[in-house]
Amino acid sequence: MALTFHNSLTRRREDFVPILAGKIGLYTCGPTVYNFAHIGNFRAYVFEDLLRRSLEHCGYEVNHVMNLTDVDDKTIRDSREAGMELGAFTGQYKESFFEDVDTLRIRRAHTYPAATEHIKEMIELIQKLFDAGVAYQADDGSVYFSIGRWPAYGQLLKIDPDQMRAGARVSNDEYGKESVADFALWKAWTEADGNVGWDSPWGKGRPGWHIECSAMSGKYLGAHFDIHCGGMDNLFPHHEDEIAQSEAANGCKFVNYWLHCAHLIVDGEKMSKSVGNFYTLRDLGARGYTGRELRWVLLGTHYRQQLNFSFKACEDARVSLQRLDTFKERVQEAAKQGDCGVEAAIEATRTASAAFTTALEDDLNISAALAALFDLVRDMNRAMDKGELGGIGAQSVLDALDRMDGVLDVLTPDKSDSVPDEVLALAAERLAARKAKDFARADEIRDRLQADGWEIEDTPEGPRVKRV
Ligand code: AMP
Ligand code: ZN
Repeated sequence: MALTFHNSLTRRREDFVPILAGKIGLYTCGPTVYNFAHIGNFRAYVFEDLLRRSLEHCGYEVNHVMNLTDVDDKTIRDSREAGMELGAFTGQYKESFFEDVDTLRIRRAHTYPAATEHIKEMIELIQKLFDAGVAYQADDGSVYFSIGRWPAYGQLLKIDPDQMRAGARVSNDEYGKESVADFALWKAWTEADGNVGWDSPWGKGRPGWHIECSAMSGKYLGAHFDIHCGGMDNLFPHHEDEIAQSEAANGCKFVNYWLHCAHLIVDGEKMSKSVGNFYTLRDLGARGYTGRELRWVLLGTHYRQQLNFSFKACEDARVSLQRLDTFKERVQEAAKQGDCGVEAAIEATRTASAAFTTALEDDLNISAALAALFDLVRDMNRAMDKGELGGIGAQSVLDALDRMDGVLDVLTPDKSDSVPDEVLALAAERLAARKAKDFARADEIRDRLQADGWEIEDTPEGPRVKRV
């Protein structure tokens, strides 16, 4: 089966055909680094991670670029409030962003261009827009893109050009959904900008938000590339404006496939910093949830469906992951035994792997992909209950799990989940005490471990330590 995606540009499901066979340019809008990213933002980044890993699983080579917005109204406002230089202020949030990316096991992009390091490219692009006749400098000194001079505006939004209020203009990057307006390419310096500003042919100022993604995607992926992603809220005006800028400047199609994820919501409302209903990864860590558990929660709902965040979902994630961990440990033990049930195991893994890949190719159908995994778990647990899986049969199951985990990345416990050395040492001491028939000491150790939240399960393969 071919890879298919729902393309926001055509609003249809389409077969995916890359521009260059086997190689894909992927641009995903990154964080504005004025605070810790919240888990709504991470829903978008985990979806993009699933997309990238699925493409790689299907044999494509992906060149992934994600921008860091380190200059805009919010970064300037908050750095001044904090009494810090812009670079030092945003630097701390860039750092925490990468920590969170690693905690959530998101594969890092190949390039993370920062806006402040690409001012030259943005100025060049704005110059091209002047040359194309769609940019103008207003009385306030700022430079705007003229919607009225670009009839192709509205490709993503599917708006009627006649409805556009030509002449209205906004310097705010995040203008209302109802209005279509000339948008700022270059914002003239004002008092509120403090010492932030760059010289340009149009005077001192700073770039608008949209121009950064056009300039940096162009630099790292070329004027025309395959896939561009973001959350639904990026669709308008941000992505609409990116299309206008890039296509007007370069005279060619900008992006072939646009993929947008639905929002993560809390109590029916979009999780966002402005509403204040947000959790960061750190908040959830303080409540005892691991990055792997949160990854499972964010991954498990199809990207075009809203995901309602709840702590119950985090608890459910823990149970599902424990089940998978126990299964994997059991198969690892079976792999150490003699060959058994080899043909049946190979058949089951083949079926599960094929179903898993087919599901991902179907617009990243994660529910069907996870169903393929759990079908394998159920069938192989049954086989092990009957003593019918061992040796290379079990190894083939482990290999299939590894391949699936190349996409999911949830089958190895977090460090905080794994058993600390001192707990393992106590478990070994208990085993020795039991062998020496010192049951009082063995029970004492078991009670002590239990009090610390560890349970010892005695299995035919020896004792296994688990978190209660
Ligand atoms: P921002 O830092 O606001 O520019 O957002 C960075 C990314 O997170 C963008 O792709 C947004 O569309 C996405 N995003 C923001 N809030 C949410 C949310 N509640 N659910 C899903 N994605 C979101
Ligand atoms: Zn962007």
